[in-house]
Amino acid sequence: MGRRKGARDSDSIRRLPRKYMKREWDSRSADEEHQDDRVDRERMITRKSIRGELRKRAGPEAADASKPAGASNEEGVVEGVVTKIASGSVRVAVAGKSFLCRLRGAFKQFEVEERSIVAVGDRVNVIPRGAQEWLVTEVLPRRTKLSRLDPQLRSAEKVVVANVDQVVIVASVREPPLRARLIDRYLVVCQKNGFEALICLNKIDLAGEEEYRPVMDVYSGLGYKVVCASAQDGRGMDELRAAIALKSNVFTGHSGVGKSSILSRLQPGLELPSAPVTSYGRGRHRTSFAELIPLDFGGFVVDTPGIREFGLWRIEPGELEVGFREIAPLVGDCKFQNCSHGTELGCAVRKAVEEGRISALRYESYLLLLKELFDKREY
Ligand code: GDP
Ligand code: ZN
Repeated sequence: MGRRKGARDSDSIRRLPRKYMKREWDSRSADEEHQDDRVDRERMITRKSIRGELRKRAGPEAADASKPAGASNEEGVVEGVVTKIASGSVRVAVAGKSFLCRLRGAFKQFEVEERSIVAVGDRVNVIPRGAQEWLVTEVLPRRTKLSRLDPQLRSAEKVVVANVDQVVIVASVREPPLRARLIDRYLVVCQKNGFEALICLNKIDLAGEEEYRPVMDVYSGLGYKVVCASAQDGRGMDELRAAIALKSNVFTGHSGVGKSSILSRLQPGLELPSAPVTSYGRGRHRTSFAELIPLDFGGFVVDTPGIREFGLWRIEPGELEVGFREIAPLVGDCKFQNCSHGTELGCAVRKAVEEGRISALRYESYLLLLKELFDKREY
């Protein structure tokens, strides 16, 4: 099943992005449109040549995303993971080593203009070219995508990181106080995008267990993995390490909850270059690309400046219920098919809340997120 999904993704990355096809929001002159058409045609031609090149190089196994990084597909070609993107080149981790790899000329143009042709986290085939030089020959299908809106082209998707496995949702039990709604928001995003979710309740040294136990019980009762931790005294760190090993992990959560402290506890010296941005807010330079930071015990931590925008993008109000695993199975029992589970008569979800089968806090989160989605309908 994973492979089929991957195959679809691979098709879509080779199609011309929608942003170049439809711009109903745009009101530019005919001349500019003409200029765009010409550029589009050139892009298509270049893309065709990439596709031809890819076909030539791709063996029958080249699109197999289930192969481990570092496995060889054909002579001289090895598979790696893009950890960083620079202009015209990418850094690729291959079996624990890191290489700077050049992109083919045609790739390079796309990398600069679309940035989603090769994204951080992509699995790529690379081949040595000369003593020092490596070349990316193929971008393999993506399992998952962490995307956000392109700031310039509001309707266009920009892949920030490909192949994220897990989102580690960090909350603190105190200072700042526990905000379950943020956890719920990220759980919806995980469900929508196919990311595993890991909830980390940090700073347990600041509160008695009776304080955070109810929250922990709600989420573990729903089948989520919850790790109670303290970056201060080290509790939960082994459990966290085991839970993130060999995966590509995004750490997210409010500023001040202890993400950086946890990371440097997990692996001394591990720091996210952009982490201070969340603490100091505006005025600091933000890099526009994400980066994968290798973990000593296997896997990666994703450093992504785009995490704030990743909100609830592309979730339609009607889809929200799917992100709440205790609500989703009940919606078929509501009296009205299009029930929003608010004030409608005969709502099976509200009934479950009243009977204590669904946590009132979770239901409150659901209603608030629903309102937010309606308020920002265009988002
Ligand atoms: P971030 O913004 O999520 O990266 O949070 P930081 O790692 O910068 O931590 C914010 C503050 O919380 C710092 O002053 C840390 O020393 C403190 N902190 C982090 N983890 C813990 C913890 O487990 N217990 C306590 N008491 N303080 C912590
Ligand atoms: Zn309902």
